[in-house]
Amino acid sequence: MGHINLVTGGSGFIGSHLCERLLARGEEVLCMDNFFTGRKENIAHLLGQPRFELVRHDVTQPFMLEVDRIYNLACPASPVHYQYNPVKTIKTNVMGALHVLGLAKRVHARVLQASTSEVYGDPDVHPQVESYWGHVNPIGPRSCYDEGKRVAEALFFDYHRQNGVDIRIIRIFNTYGPRMLVNDGRVVSNFVVQALRGEPITIYGDGAQTRSFCYVDDLVEGMIRMMDCDDFTGPVNIGNPGEFTMLELANAVIELTGSSSKLTHHALPENDPTRRRPDISLAGEKLGWSPKISLREGLSPTIAYFRDLLSQSSA
Ligand code: NAD
Ligand code: UDP
Repeated sequence: MGHINLVTGGSGFIGSHLCERLLARGEEVLCMDNFFTGRKENIAHLLGQPRFELVRHDVTQPFMLEVDRIYNLACPASPVHYQYNPVKTIKTNVMGALHVLGLAKRVHARVLQASTSEVYGDPDVHPQVESYWGHVNPIGPRSCYDEGKRVAEALFFDYHRQNGVDIRIIRIFNTYGPRMLVNDGRVVSNFVVQALRGEPITIYGDGAQTRSFCYVDDLVEGMIRMMDCDDFTGPVNIGNPGEFTMLELANAVIELTGSSSKLTHHALPENDPTRRRPDISLAGEKLGWSPKISLREGLSPTIAYFRDLLSQSSA
């Protein structure tokens, strides 16, 4: 092993779990973050480890580091946060990709892009396969994220074809678990926090829209397998094919938390995709990967995390 990894967005939700797993494998980790949605608390327990370093830096600004593997995760992932400053979201995606690719080219590092199921937009192919080009609104409120991620994929392939950069692209479907932010705005954290506080569960629209939820440990396993895999650029879907409506998710959360919260309906956000489920045959074939943790199994540690966090903040 002995790899030296750069993880951009390393103090965020997924990034902090990835840093932990890489360190557990005996590798070195340079965690780069500007702390927009990341938190020092997520990586505080890693700061004393000799193979871990934290760099406060914004990926829209150039940087030079000696590493042989780069995981590019820097980008807010929740619609609430990526729409807060949409121009910055596009800059983070596009300039961040240019900077990690330029670095990979210079130091001959392998570079993995955390892409997203959002490249499929509101899909008219179901479940989504990697060969599907997507159905994306180029000028809507989600475009800064969706199109930013699509440009990043284009840049990755152009650096690969033009400069021989060793790229990997994974398309991540909705992922959840401990260390999501309380005010993240994404559906799993919203529902769990609302249920634990006994507040109404906010269903956007009629709640019939679907998502497929992957527990973070399964995702990180897929991510590392992709980085370890020789001669396969992807893109490859990484997600859990279990598909749930938001009403089903709300009822599962209410049951598992034992909450007395009731459902309340709010307007559906513009361009909210109607359904989403990954076809993961390619990940199975190329990486021998499939998720192991069901939604109910993954919700338990997630609920325990938020229960603990909320009891600390009210103490
Ligand atoms: P997150 O918001 O918790 O993490 C993103 C991290 O990037 C944060 O630590 C944030 O501070 C950092 N960041 C943002 N802009 C930056 C900048 N300009 N410079 C340096 N750091 C910056 O979100 P997450 O869920 O952990 O997502 C991580 C990656 O995975 C993102 O690229 C996201 O698009 C992708 N992804 C996540 C999901 C999901 O369901 N969680 C789904 C698809 C794709
Ligand atoms: N959603 C909801 N209530 C909430 C937050 C989200 O019903 O409090 C819905 C949202 O409209 C979407 C789904 O849950 O249909 C997933 O939303 P999220 O923001 O988690 O992710 P994304 O839309 O990017 O998949």
